[in-house]
Amino acid sequence: MDQAIFTRYLSGKARIFWQLIICEEVTKSNATFLNACEILNRLSLYADIGVMAYEQLSIIDHIKELREKRNAVILAHNYQRPEVQDIADYTGDSLGLSKMAAATSADVIVFCGVHFMAETAKILSPEKKVLLPDMKAGCPMANMIKPSQLQALQDGNPHAKTVCYVNSSAEIKAMSDLCCTSSNAVHIIRQAFDEDDKIIFVPDKHLGNYVSSQVKHEIILWPGYCPTHIKILPEHIHDMKEAFPNAEVLVHPECYFRVIELADKALSTGQMLEYVAQSDGMAFIIGTERELLYRLRKDNPGKTFYHVTEYAVCPNMKKITLEKVLASLKHMTGEIMLSDEVIHRAGRSIREMLKYSQ
Ligand code: SF4
Repeated sequence: MDQAIFTRYLSGKARIFWQLIICEEVTKSNATFLNACEILNRLSLYADIGVMAYEQLSIIDHIKELREKRNAVILAHNYQRPEVQDIADYTGDSLGLSKMAAATSADVIVFCGVHFMAETAKILSPEKKVLLPDMKAGCPMANMIKPSQLQALQDGNPHAKTVCYVNSSAEIKAMSDLCCTSSNAVHIIRQAFDEDDKIIFVPDKHLGNYVSSQVKHEIILWPGYCPTHIKILPEHIHDMKEAFPNAEVLVHPECYFRVIELADKALSTGQMLEYVAQSDGMAFIIGTERELLYRLRKDNPGKTFYHVTEYAVCPNMKKITLEKVLASLKHMTGEIMLSDEVIHRAGRSIREMLKYSQ
């Protein structure tokens, strides 16, 4: 029987079953009409939850089946929905995902993240099919600089080297000398350039500012920013520290510099996962996107995590759902296409980054 028909059949059966129970409950307890309504509401809610859980299970089974059939690998960023993280073969930050994309022997990469991440996977594995389950899952920060704007900045600073944060389009990467992630930006700039080199850093001014505080190089910033991380404010850190004085504060370098200054550490999501796993600390205030806490809690069941503010949620990352992963694998939709030239030039700046990150 077709999956959808079976689901509907089961849903109908579940309702009839619950209605029978309701009749019995009502008779047994001699309940008033209002009690009966309450029981009815509650039981039909349980029925809905049961059917939803069944539907999700069948989607997961179907995804697993297609993953095998297509020889596909599912990569998910740490900010993805919990159920998407759970179905992934690998979950990680931009650097970890780039390495996985470069190393996989799968024919198809289903990238659960945002557009620039899937592009990066395509650049590193051009012979593979890279699918983004929702083509509208973009990163506003990556869209904050256009090639023509970077060209103007480079023309105005002809001797400067260009470093692009991985959160940038393939065209911007193709125009850069080096790519970096939040976990390796400081290390890469120290290793790759002389201290008197001038550096154009795009597009994130907050990460650029943080890098600038850690290196001696002159850094020219572009005014891009992450709309999710700038929702984390100094007052949130103050309030949380007051409420949980024994907790360590870990924030992402995409936050305001004033927020970073108040934290114990500024770390990428991958670094936060490593740091927490090795730390003797038992409680942490986490200053990044909400879904990292899912992974932190899963990996560290004995430790406590507080999200710094409920507003730090990236709606773009949440566009990927199990249903869209299934549809993408089923119909092979959402394929990332890039020209050979962009793949070649952008690949150079990403491979340089990987060389410095080994
Ligand atoms: S969290 Fe910020 S940088 Fe990351 S995808 Fe969302 S908008 Fe872009």
